[in-house]
Amino acid sequence: MQGVNRSNYVESEGKRTGRRALLTAAGLIAAGSVPAAVALLEGTTNGSGRKRARWVKDVDRPTLGEKTAEFKRFSGSNIFELHKQLKTERDGVGALEAEQAAKAKRLAGWMRQSKPGFRLPDHQLSEGAWTLMKSIKPGEGLLSWTRVAVSTPDELGVARHTAPPEEMAQTVKVAARLYGAGLVGIAPMNESYVNLRQARRDIVFEDVTVPAVTDTKVVIPRTMKWVVAIAIPMDLDLLSRAPTSLGDAATGLGYSHSAFTVASLAEFIRGLGYQAIPSVNDTALSVPFAIEAGIGELSRLNRLVTPEFGPAVRLCKVFTDLPMACDTPVDFGLVQFCRKCKKCAESCPSGALSFDDEPSFKTKGPWNNTGHKAWFEDSYLCFQHWQQVDNGCGICLASCPYTKAARAWIHDVVKATASVAPVTDGLFRVLDDAFGYGRQHDPEQWWAKDTPHGVRG
Ligand code: SF4
Ligand code: SF4
Repeated sequence: MQGVNRSNYVESEGKRTGRRALLTAAGLIAAGSVPAAVALLEGTTNGSGRKRARWVKDVDRPTLGEKTAEFKRFSGSNIFELHKQLKTERDGVGALEAEQAAKAKRLAGWMRQSKPGFRLPDHQLSEGAWTLMKSIKPGEGLLSWTRVAVSTPDELGVARHTAPPEEMAQTVKVAARLYGAGLVGIAPMNESYVNLRQARRDIVFEDVTVPAVTDTKVVIPRTMKWVVAIAIPMDLDLLSRAPTSLGDAATGLGYSHSAFTVASLAEFIRGLGYQAIPSVNDTALSVPFAIEAGIGELSRLNRLVTPEFGPAVRLCKVFTDLPMACDTPVDFGLVQFCRKCKKCAESCPSGALSFDDEPSFKTKGPWNNTGHKAWFEDSYLCFQHWQQVDNGCGICLASCPYTKAARAWIHDVVKATASVAPVTDGLFRVLDDAFGYGRQHDPEQWWAKDTPHGVRG
């Protein structure tokens, strides 16, 4: 396996520039691709009021991930349950528990030795970041399928809020952004993306108006025809320290922010006089809804990559009966870029990601849904690698060339150029490597942030 070097930390922003990178960039400028792309940088507003760079084009159908008739509702078993089952089949009863005990022992040793990225403060930073996510349960408490505390319009003595679908979409999106969404779009409900079961209860669609969670089933009203798909940006400063406890803190924080965002948005929607079901990883697949809502495209990671934050996002969603204008999928040249790039696959220490030139229908295990084309991943190998670090890994997310701060203009030029000149994709991958992007940042430097008088840096 090639493997991107993650032990030689990036030294500083100023030392990243490589002669090879500059020569490549000069070639692109001479070829005219960059000037053409610059023309696409100006923002555009699509039909539902979303402002994005022009190189992100609205399209009728997803560039990858479109479902065939063979696509079935997913069982609802999470990756941990599936892994435990497979591990037992392959290595015997108690194999996973033994591995986890060894991992806990190894982690404790690293803490005692003050191994960078795995010291006690690093580990506990991660634990703190996961707090909200670890304390929620689908359908209960913050993630209740019915109102938690908000007053209904009826109780306030007013009529429920009504407006044209475009205006409703805008209102909900602005609220979602306030609660923490980095990107938000609206997709139509698709029952085939909803899991079959949740915590051993069947998930069913019924002709009712209020969602319900009983001992035997959970009920989604058929009146819930809209899905607010949300991407929560991960902290890139932490993620660039993956695969350490600090990198894992970025994942925990992303999930905890997701829980806060969907819980708050569901209450807002209920407060307008409608029903809302908040969902993080539970209840339904987030990726296909996010693709159809135009949040991003399906990538070689078999995960969503967004134009603005790359794959460094956590996805969540809210189902509702509040009528809104839906968005469309987008195309920003990602699938073509992924064909040549393969940086995530090279970076992956477990060999879980595909090196195939083309996506296919060939799945890798029970964690993959059949009936759609993708670069399928081997989640078993991925999860096995997680046992070697803290809670998770995240190297592939950190190494993707699209994982850049959303507001850096030079990155926008590069992404815009890739969207109009696919022939340059291989060169941009070279450029990304030469500038040192995707390499691990020094974990110890994370704690040396300049925060005078406790002001947030
Ligand atoms: S998270 Fe999994 S797929 Fe990604 S780099 Fe790590 S082991 Fe590989
Ligand atoms: S690292 Fe490259 S191949 Fe992998 S998802 Fe990102 S752009 Fe695609």
